[in-house]
Amino acid sequence: MSQIYWYQDRWLPADEVRISPEDRGYYFGDGVYEVFRVYGGKLFEADAHFARLEKSAAGIRIRLPHSTEVLKRRMEELVRRNGLQEGTVYLQITRGEAPRSHLFPRDADPVAMAYCTETKRPIAAMQTGYKAITAEDVRWLHCDYKTLNLLANVLAKQEAADRGADDAVLHRGGTVTESSASNVMIVKDGSLITHPANHLILHGITRAVVLRLAARAEIPTEERSFSVHELLAADEVLLTGTTIEVMPVIEVDGRTVGTGVPGPVTRRLQQEFERVIHA
Ligand code: PMP
Repeated sequence: MSQIYWYQDRWLPADEVRISPEDRGYYFGDGVYEVFRVYGGKLFEADAHFARLEKSAAGIRIRLPHSTEVLKRRMEELVRRNGLQEGTVYLQITRGEAPRSHLFPRDADPVAMAYCTETKRPIAAMQTGYKAITAEDVRWLHCDYKTLNLLANVLAKQEAADRGADDAVLHRGGTVTESSASNVMIVKDGSLITHPANHLILHGITRAVVLRLAARAEIPTEERSFSVHELLAADEVLLTGTTIEVMPVIEVDGRTVGTGVPGPVTRRLQQEFERVIHA
């Protein structure tokens, strides 16, 4: 079946979507986006994603072309039109099309586009765990906005792959922030520790779900910064994200985490997460 895109509030086959070379997303990365998980044909945590989209758009002063209620209905229709049961939805909104100039264009309208993929849940990796490297976090200071400017993330992820790892855990001068495409948590003496939700990290939807699940399971949680040293000495390390869900990390910079297999707190959180997505 040919993939149906949502582009400028129209439904188009993929090969009929035409992005302008003057789209500011193209030359400035001047836009925001969201990635949603679809389970059983339904958008997971949709309201939280739309709230974050509103925050990201406001943060870089982009006017959303529709209310989040309308956007939600469109994304639900996208899933329906594509007959998607399990996968992801990618939604992107750029500032618009205009001749290249750093200044905001006066009368350009935002450009909105969305499509879905059949990306499967990473079941095998969730059982064996990821290998990670550490890398300096060289991003700007508004990592809480989900913008198209992902060059530092791209470089970190590629460095991980070049070194035979799955992801890069980022740190600012030795303080762990998040990973190239997910949030990072450690377990130490039974407590689940993760960076506070401030401007230095993306406020992950999965992070919030996992913190809620941990609280409900009476696992102590601490939202505080922690160092690379603590990361390397942790009993367990895990990543959270829309596509990777709750992903154990079994090796960091070639050093074994804990016993080298996904730990009990991580596995418990995976079970609780599994329950939520099947609910
Ligand atoms: N941090 C970064 C840098 C990300 O790109 C993502 C999204 N993949 C996350 C954290 C996790 O956020 P979420 O759980 O909302 O997918």
